[in-house]
Amino acid sequence: MNTTSLLELDRNHIWHPYTSMDHPLPCFPVASAEGVEITLETGEKLIDGMSSWWAAIHGYQHPQLNQAIQNQIQKMSHVMFGGLTHRPAVELATQLLKITPDALQKIFYSDSGSVAVEVALKMALQYQMSRGRSTRTKFATVRNGYHGDTWHAMGVCDPDTGMHSIYKDRLAPTLFAPSPKVSFFETWDTSDFKPMEQLILSNHEEVAAVILEPIVQGAGGMRFYHPQYLVELHRLCQQHDILLIFDEIATGFGRTGKMFALEHAGVVPDILCLGKAITGGMMSFATTMTTVEVATTISQGTPGVIMHGPTFMGNPLACAVATQSLEIIMQKETLTKVKTLEQQLIQELAPFKALEIVDDVRVLGAIGVIEMKEAVDMQMLQQSFVKHGIWLRPFGKLIYMMPPYIMSSKALSQLIKGLKQSISEVYHIDI
Ligand SMILES: *Cc1c(COP(=O)(O)O)cnc(C)c1O
Repeated sequence: MNTTSLLELDRNHIWHPYTSMDHPLPCFPVASAEGVEITLETGEKLIDGMSSWWAAIHGYQHPQLNQAIQNQIQKMSHVMFGGLTHRPAVELATQLLKITPDALQKIFYSDSGSVAVEVALKMALQYQMSRGRSTRTKFATVRNGYHGDTWHAMGVCDPDTGMHSIYKDRLAPTLFAPSPKVSFFETWDTSDFKPMEQLILSNHEEVAAVILEPIVQGAGGMRFYHPQYLVELHRLCQQHDILLIFDEIATGFGRTGKMFALEHAGVVPDILCLGKAITGGMMSFATTMTTVEVATTISQGTPGVIMHGPTFMGNPLACAVATQSLEIIMQKETLTKVKTLEQQLIQELAPFKALEIVDDVRVLGAIGVIEMKEAVDMQMLQQSFVKHGIWLRPFGKLIYMMPPYIMSSKALSQLIKGLKQSISEVYHIDI
């Protein structure tokens, strides 16, 4: 099949994320990917600034990850997890226990981030039911959050800007506090926490859990907020027997400069969701981790079991590759590399701040964000990015990058140079 007919079949039959079937935006056909480069069918090579949505942190075709899948496939690709277990699942658990906070001892495996969030919410409800607190059926969260696309995950996303506003009236009622205003880089101001405090104080008898993305709000606006917010929230949740759920599906595994974003605040939640980078972007996989207290309470209540069990739970290929990905992450060079990327992003993105069209430039760990004053023309920018040999996918007013950790300083400079050329071309300005 030639590339033209491939693209035509794709356009006619295959839905892409958040796209129309009548007026699909053009897609670029990928032939292969290696290291930090995506190669198109047309032969063009693009430097990848997205890590395939936070996931491919070690780049593409990492030999150790490829090998892990090849070794595992010789033994079995999958077996059901009901009544059976296997080494890849147990070895991954051992690795996870090594790098996550000690209090989180119980692990639920699932196949995607949204499902990990659903499981976390169900755990919280079952926990409250098991303690006989039948009024605690709601969740509280902050605005500008994003937690996935499945039903209850949608319910805890921002109801207006969170891509699911048309479903607003069909979702379970959720309590929303304004999003934190004090940024990661500013001095803490206690007034920032007051709205959440008020919300909890007036509703605590109804709240099962608070869920939020620690430090970095990802798809809801790429906002970096102050760690003290989490310290205050943790204290308040403990006072009122409300569980705290951290969704680190985007921030986990080094992206913010710490192994987990929660380390910026020194707060350990009751439930932690991990996904995206967990397999180094090789397979779809996620986990929900919780404390002995939550797990024991659920297990001693009625029905006494966790009411969830996906078909592909604990998939051996995914577990095997995740174990190797964590092995790479635990080498101390990995986090050092994130720090190096951070320094370079700070330096090389700074000049964008001076542009008339730019509202803000911010960097945390290996995340670089340029917030424009107006929403960007994604399609036009993307065409220009590809022309200049880079791959980024802006949304709304945000042009952002989270490169694979293995990216060399030369490649990162090229990525930023390509971005400069594209902005210069699309906005007709000199940079
Ligand atoms: C991507 C994401 C999810 C959803 O994960 P999927 O694997 O796409 O279902 C949930 N929460 C956060 C913070 C995410 O970034």
